[in-house]
Amino acid sequence: MLEYQCIPVGMFQSNTYLLRDVPSGALALVDCGFFNRPVREAVEAWGGDLRWILLTHGHFDHVMGVPDARCAYPAALTAIGEADADYLRGKIETLPGRVSRHQRPAEPDRLLMGGDEIILGESRISVLASPGHTPGGLCFFCGADRLLFSGDTLFHEEVGRVDLPGGDWDALLATLALLLALDGDIAVLPGHGKASGIAHERAFNPYAKEIG
Ligand SMILES: [Zn+2]
Repeated sequence: MLEYQCIPVGMFQSNTYLLRDVPSGALALVDCGFFNRPVREAVEAWGGDLRWILLTHGHFDHVMGVPDARCAYPAALTAIGEADADYLRGKIETLPGRVSRHQRPAEPDRLLMGGDEIILGESRISVLASPGHTPGGLCFFCGADRLLFSGDTLFHEEVGRVDLPGGDWDALLATLALLLALDGDIAVLPGHGKASGIAHERAFNPYAKEIG
């Protein structure tokens, strides 16, 4: 069983999620826009056993805290979609020449693809490929707990932008079709803004119509 908390960080209020496998106390972060005091204190309050830093995609507002988190928790493994690894390495700028120039590069420990599985204590987290917002975007799905961490792919009644480098509208719509075909009782925990659910998005997401 997993429990989680959401900590919005930084100027874009990017959601950092802290997950805990309750039986073992093993922790994971989903995205890490900043590893600031609220995030650090949340990790410590939940026992400090950080095993994973799971990145939904490589945009700077989701990864800038990775070097600080790794410094504080050297045992934690950083994982990102293979096709987004060069964002983390600082080889692709999210917004060329702007805020992202403050990003410090980091080398991932694991390169993920759709179909991979992350083990967190007794919990299993499935990796879903979700290209569109970025080429190597991922969603993290905890089937036993009915939780989908959807990054910047699917928001409450919105989808991610595709006008940044690597964005692809057709790919995003194909990803949206796959996500909205998941069970309706699954909670959607996005990279920005409030939580939603698959059934709600099927009914109210304006882009659901575009996929038939
Ligand atoms: Zn993004």
